[in-house]
Amino acid sequence: MQHTISHELFSKAQQVIPGGVNSPVRAFKAVGGNPVFIKSAKGAYLHDEDGNQYIEFINSWGPMLLGHANPVIEEAVREAISSSLSFGAPTRREVEMAELIIDMVPSVEKVRMVNSGTEATMSAIRVARGYTGREKIIKFEGCYHGHGDSFLIAAGSGAVTLGVPDSPGVTKGVANDTLTAPYNDLAAVQMLVAANPNQIAAIIIEPVAGNMGLVLPKEGFLEGLRELCTREGIVLIFDEVMTGFRLARGGAQERLGVMPDMTTLGKIIGGGMPVGAYGGKREIMDCVAPAGPVYQAGTLSGNPVAMAAGLAMLRYLNTHPEVYTLLEQTSQTIVNDIRANCKALDLNLTINHIGSMFTVFFTDKPVVDFTTAKQSDLAAFGRYFQAMLHEGVYLAPSQFESLFVSTALAEPTLLQQVAQANKKALAAA
Ligand code: PLP
Repeated sequence: MQHTISHELFSKAQQVIPGGVNSPVRAFKAVGGNPVFIKSAKGAYLHDEDGNQYIEFINSWGPMLLGHANPVIEEAVREAISSSLSFGAPTRREVEMAELIIDMVPSVEKVRMVNSGTEATMSAIRVARGYTGREKIIKFEGCYHGHGDSFLIAAGSGAVTLGVPDSPGVTKGVANDTLTAPYNDLAAVQMLVAANPNQIAAIIIEPVAGNMGLVLPKEGFLEGLRELCTREGIVLIFDEVMTGFRLARGGAQERLGVMPDMTTLGKIIGGGMPVGAYGGKREIMDCVAPAGPVYQAGTLSGNPVAMAAGLAMLRYLNTHPEVYTLLEQTSQTIVNDIRANCKALDLNLTINHIGSMFTVFFTDKPVVDFTTAKQSDLAAFGRYFQAMLHEGVYLAPSQFESLFVSTALAEPTLLQQVAQANKKALAAA
């Protein structure tokens, strides 16, 4: 497999873009080698600048649930473009989008559109602070909520991949207002709340964590947080930027049956366009300007083209429940194949899996939090990643990410190719 053009582009990119990329984990730093530069994509395939083709498990880090170049979404975008790209004024599509989100996501009664997951989480904690009149928040080690200052404390995803879970540039004052607890450790959260009486505005959590690799909540953990937040007047925020519309039509909250006070959304909600949203109980959301005093705004928020793409995606999911059955079956087949390959190779790896998300951890210990995720053999993961790439399968270039399955993968020949690639790559790891 030749990567000559990708290498040339990366050399040029490094001269003009920090690290050569516009989002850190794309640089392949954790797995060695240079990133491949993508030219186009269709269905389950990515095509790079050198003409190589890959079956892919990143799906733009989540949004492309229905595969690439989906005609339903593309048609909606084409139609929207013909009426101008942006107005900066209210539109019909924004109303339809809000109604649809409220219909699909069980706990959301009012919602505000923004342009990214980061904006959604930053705005949600501001609103929670405004609503409660308190300043501190609790987040979980290894969870990633975007690059807002308050969240770059023990952060997962690209931050941990690059070894900067606590980023320089975040002031001590901001850092002091973010308290952290280990994921799945309810007692630790109870202690933090007890030690900071009437000071915690919000607890923010990925209800299923995807940013330290995939880590599932233990039975009773989310329920315990719900109970604690209700008792202590704390706003419980589920960051469903990754899990929203993926783990079920109504996200992780529907699948797991625990309701937050606020929800943050991103990725799938834009169908591939830059969209985020935050929503929740009416009483809380009515604090947001101009209904209330908490300020949050955006020049391109609710952009008509982005709304058209997102609406097409959500309408499709809302009317095609079979998508979720297909995603479950396809993901189960892939995970079963990996398990069978591991067994044949006498490899004892930990595979965490739910719905269309999974992570193969290069450790034989259960992975239940950030500490156990970090015990994985990262060098072995790097060898596995490179071998998969060589076999034409493009995985997330870090152990601390979840893989995403799209409906476009649901083809027996594709699944066989993936199984064959896994057989060779696991042996090479
Ligand atoms: N929250 C979660 C759970 C995420 O996974 C991410 C991004 O991966 C974000 C927030 C930030 O979203 P964005 O990259 O759109 O700013």
